[in-house]
Amino acid sequence: MSADTASAASLEHLKRILGEVADLKHAEAVLDWDARVSMPPAGAEARAEVSATLTRNSHERFVADDVGELLGELDGLDTDPDSDEAALIRVTHRLWERTRRVPSELVGEMARANGVAVAAWDQAKAASDFASFAPHLERQLELKQRYIECFPEIETAYDVLLEDYEEGMTTTEVVTVFDRLKEELIELVERRREDSADDQLLRGPFPVVLQQEAGRRVLEAFGSDESTWRIDETPHPFASKPGVGDIRLTTHTDENDLTSLFSTMHEFGHGIYEYDVDSSYARTPLGAGASSALHESQSRTWENLVGRSPGFWRWFYPQLQTLFAETLGGVDEVSFVRGINAVRPGLIRGDADEVTYGLHIILRFELEQELLAGSVSVHDLPEIWKARMQDYLGVEVPDDARGVLQDMHWAVGLFGYFPTYQLGNVISVQIWERAVADLGNLDERFSRGEFSSLREWLREHVYRHGSKYPPRDLLRRVTGSDLDPDPYLRYLHAKFA
Ligand code: ZN
Repeated sequence: MSADTASAASLEHLKRILGEVADLKHAEAVLDWDARVSMPPAGAEARAEVSATLTRNSHERFVADDVGELLGELDGLDTDPDSDEAALIRVTHRLWERTRRVPSELVGEMARANGVAVAAWDQAKAASDFASFAPHLERQLELKQRYIECFPEIETAYDVLLEDYEEGMTTTEVVTVFDRLKEELIELVERRREDSADDQLLRGPFPVVLQQEAGRRVLEAFGSDESTWRIDETPHPFASKPGVGDIRLTTHTDENDLTSLFSTMHEFGHGIYEYDVDSSYARTPLGAGASSALHESQSRTWENLVGRSPGFWRWFYPQLQTLFAETLGGVDEVSFVRGINAVRPGLIRGDADEVTYGLHIILRFELEQELLAGSVSVHDLPEIWKARMQDYLGVEVPDDARGVLQDMHWAVGLFGYFPTYQLGNVISVQIWERAVADLGNLDERFSRGEFSSLREWLREHVYRHGSKYPPRDLLRRVTGSDLDPDPYLRYLHAKFA
């Protein structure tokens, strides 16, 4: 057998194993979707067992020695570095090494801690009682420290966490970008304090079934179809792809606002990225978006850059007005568009506008680093949270439910994830500027209900590549530059200053 034939056989063998691992993960995705969308609540405990078994199986299958042996055989393979094969080997090798570093005992402990802490967080938030959640947060931080210790060669502790969501991104880089944003955002919020836009007109009532109809129309115009996509209601919206040809979104519809329409467009952005990944990458680690920030850049593109643009509403407002004739009949298009773009410093990250949102993230990013470094204690966290919300946004935090307890992330051990939300905003405008340079006036196209040229451009330049390129390389290929806050700041100033 020649070396080439041997390598081809090894690659086929590796793909077979990766396919099995991917199938187990897809099964998990269906169970997770079911647990959040349709399972009776009493099934939670039994379901946790099923999920744990699947997770263990896919983990063990992936970290097994034979995967390492196959990767070793393939290391010397003479492939074009820009080929899909080379990318598959690179991405799998990186993932395999990172996954192997963490003892399965610690993986199990972290999974159990998440289950317990999220239940405690739920109760603590309902009662606005931080003290009852504090021991769980302490425990999560202790487990994170042990996780970080699995990567002793990485000098900055926070870099270890970032690497899980944003390959190659360093804490120093994020700090540089965020420090710049922080200064400008605080100033912009200050300047918009007298924002006269009337957002009361967005308080409804907007009957739920009609909002769902509005969401369906927008999804259809963006290019989803019922043979591949579905949308359901959950308290916390998300998007999921359990397999090729199966894109599931959720939204949360409340009669008193139009948030569900924007969260539908947001989740569409996540969904379309996954949908448009080259189908030849299916059942391999290349078959998903390149990173958390790139993913978020696309949800933000469809939610904000498209969904809050004047052109989009020139097309859609007449339809919305007809659907909600009682509430919006007397509201003209210009006032409506101003209303949905009002800047209002508030307590809740999830409700924040485009300007204040970044400051919510910067606060969390800073606190995560300080908690891990021990310079802020869990005990002091609520007070520090309140003081900084006052400094950054000028708002008074009345209780911990609307303060430090509002997000679930820390309860499920997600540290290092928050910054990717704001990096996503930054990247969204970098990519957008390129799209506009290539396609010309998008607003005019949107005003005719034409979204396919943007979608096709994004498919060609971003989506179809899946995880083939490291996020930094992909961004460079698309925009010609590295992470750069300038386009985002230009956009915010042009729109809000
Ligand atoms: Zn998102």
